[in-house]
Amino acid sequence: MILPIVAYGDPVLRKVGIEIDKDYPNLQELIANMKETMHNAHGVGLAAPQIGKAIRLFLVDATPFADDEDLSEKERAFLKDFKHVFINPKILKEEGDEWPFNEGCLSIPDVREDVFRQEQITIAYQDENFEKHTATINGLAARVFQHEYDHIEGILFTDKLSSLKKRLIKKKLENISKGKINPEYRMRFPNLKK
Ligand SMILES: [Zn+2]
Repeated sequence: MILPIVAYGDPVLRKVGIEIDKDYPNLQELIANMKETMHNAHGVGLAAPQIGKAIRLFLVDATPFADDEDLSEKERAFLKDFKHVFINPKILKEEGDEWPFNEGCLSIPDVREDVFRQEQITIAYQDENFEKHTATINGLAARVFQHEYDHIEGILFTDKLSSLKKRLIKKKLENISKGKINPEYRMRFPNLKK
């Protein structure tokens, strides 16, 4: 089932998510619905707050980047399989130089800006079966993880912009929260005036 994606301005996007365990109600169904919702919106990641649940869960599917001709063969091969469910994830270490990438967000349609993040992260997480894993990832895979991880901390990529950039997009963000946009997927707007 495709779930409505919560738009910028909804307080749920500002909550720090709580950890979950395998008794969380209808978890497998929730994960399946989130996958469908992410693919329908052509997203490479979707975090639970974006469908209205302040819990520490997000999905990524970076496989669309595997077709990016600008990437090395090695990076493309890695991204082709970078499709995961992350439950109760942690960033254990962030290292390397900060690099810019033009980010967007399904909760903030039609806004894209360069965001600087560190190159490489070491992470710990549980998968959809609550098996524990650790991994070190870099480049675009790390980028997508960092963006989604911010969501479960109540942080949005627009928070990371310069004050000048923030002023420039302020009106656009207000319009999004009021539903004055035409997204290509189902959304829920906090300040919709009927
Ligand atoms: Zn996002």
